[in-house]
Amino acid sequence: MIVVMKQGATQSQIKNVIEHIEQLGLKSHIIVGTELTVVAALGEKRDGARQALETLEGVDKVVPILAPYKVASLEVKKEPTIVRSHKLTIGGTQIGVIAGPCSVESRQQILDVAHIVREAGATGLRGGAFKPRTSPYAFQGLKEKGLQLLAEAREATGLAVVTEVMAPEQVAMVANYADVLQVGARNMQNYPLLEAVGESNLPVLLKRGPAATMDEFLLAAEYILKTGNRQVMLCERGIRTFEDHTRFTLPLASVPYLHQKTHLPVVVDPSHGTGKASLVAVMARASVAAGADGLMIEIHPEPDKALSDGFQALQPQAFRQLMDDCRLVAKALGKTLG
Ligand code: PEP
Ligand code: MN
Repeated sequence: MIVVMKQGATQSQIKNVIEHIEQLGLKSHIIVGTELTVVAALGEKRDGARQALETLEGVDKVVPILAPYKVASLEVKKEPTIVRSHKLTIGGTQIGVIAGPCSVESRQQILDVAHIVREAGATGLRGGAFKPRTSPYAFQGLKEKGLQLLAEAREATGLAVVTEVMAPEQVAMVANYADVLQVGARNMQNYPLLEAVGESNLPVLLKRGPAATMDEFLLAAEYILKTGNRQVMLCERGIRTFEDHTRFTLPLASVPYLHQKTHLPVVVDPSHGTGKASLVAVMARASVAAGADGLMIEIHPEPDKALSDGFQALQPQAFRQLMDDCRLVAKALGKTLG
């Protein structure tokens, strides 16, 4: 349920509503909007709860939340959520670009790439230190050493570091170095991991599972939000279909669909979404045109030598071009990109 407070409701009336919600055995979640304050009451349905809350002072009305996800729902919060870390801003009229290699491979590689990313005008640096690889024999990442190199690249450039965490017991270590925790597609429904990244209180980039529906995706985000962490971004990275001309199928309609259902910002990853370097820039432009709040792009100075995903990595010049082209599309929509 959502308890909608009257315009001008006092702090003590809001506090009283929260106390009542908790006495009913429900969890409260306050959202202060520009015009109204609403308090979401989350948990199992209770007989009489709605009536009890409706009669409290300062309450305008109590309405059920129809969507299966609650805190993620636009019914609970109308204003778009904006995620910020260092110079990276994702949401509202700002399209944030996170770029970097698939994997951190060496000090030289990540520092070179970080400078390329910054000079092209992006504000987030990606790079996997813990890599979820299909084959157990493939490069698994530099692990803590990779995190240290990412932190060094942040110090050198001011970029926000976005990196994947694969297990709940790794969250504390990764959070020690990273600015944004990435939950990978394979882990979208790893519920203990979702709770652990939520509790870290760092912003989280949640990737869509390749076989997840939109409701499953939003309910996964709900696990993070339920911990009280509101800094969640959704990332469309393509789904598995019968198609094999691309690595995955990138359904861009999910961007406007998600904007109709949630206040959370939506990032698109056309690198994994297509798996082909030659398709990435066009799909990045299309993502911006579809209303994406952010882009995640894999780049590498020497893609043919990359230890993972070289086939989908853009070379520096192609990335600079992508940034210039996407900036034009963003401008046409009254947004800025960087
Ligand atoms: C990645 O970002 O490098 C990655 C492994 O992505 P996904 O989880 O979307 O496959
Ligand atoms: Mn990759």
